[in-house]
Amino acid sequence: MTSVKLGAIAGILFDKDGTLLDYDASWLPVNRELASIAAQGNAVLADHLLLACGMDPVTGHIVPDSLLAAGNTRQISEGLIAAGSMMDVLELTERLDTLFSHAADFSAPVTDLAGFFRRLHERGYRLGVASSDNERSIRQTARRFGFLDYLDYIAGYDSGFGTKPEPGMMLGFCAATGLSPAQIAVVGDNNHDLHMGHNAGAGLTVGVLTGTGSRESLAAADYCLNDITELESLLPVAQPV
Ligand SMILES: [Mg+2]
Repeated sequence: MTSVKLGAIAGILFDKDGTLLDYDASWLPVNRELASIAAQGNAVLADHLLLACGMDPVTGHIVPDSLLAAGNTRQISEGLIAAGSMMDVLELTERLDTLFSHAADFSAPVTDLAGFFRRLHERGYRLGVASSDNERSIRQTARRFGFLDYLDYIAGYDSGFGTKPEPGMMLGFCAATGLSPAQIAVVGDNNHDLHMGHNAGAGLTVGVLTGTGSRESLAAADYCLNDITELESLLPVAQPV
């Protein structure tokens, strides 16, 4: 059953954080800064906000599928305010979007992304990124790591395709490439990635362990890989027409 699915795949839609970028190396310092902004410098409140949104301030452990693991900027801002931040939601969302686009400059890739995307592109796969981050940050990341030219599609939470786990970002990828949902593999480190795939009728869902998920939390995926590089041997070399 699953090998049949693999043979049909012609497009791959990747999540960004925890999938292309190593989550811990890239985001733990950003989360601390985010909490400090939301707490307006109150360190005790900042730790409380981190805990409430899914990160242990001492160990740095992130709860799978928590707000910090899976939320978009607006949802994280609302969560921070619900947990005690005194900031206005619009102002906080704007401050965090700016923080996140600067974070692209410090992020750590899970592999040589330029080589990885080039090889998949050369094998004929259509490639896209769908992230809960803003579109500007996704473009910065793709430019910085040299794979922007291999992407057929980019969708952030602010690109007009809705948010995960709604199907819109994946259906946008289908519209941009002319592929059907059954030809798409969705790759991500959170359940909202897999659920977006299921909601849009994706041919294949793949979980990766470079983010905040675990084999247990990603049990709904067709495959669970240690990282994206294992995709290259999982997918058939010959591309279907
Ligand atoms: Mg992710």
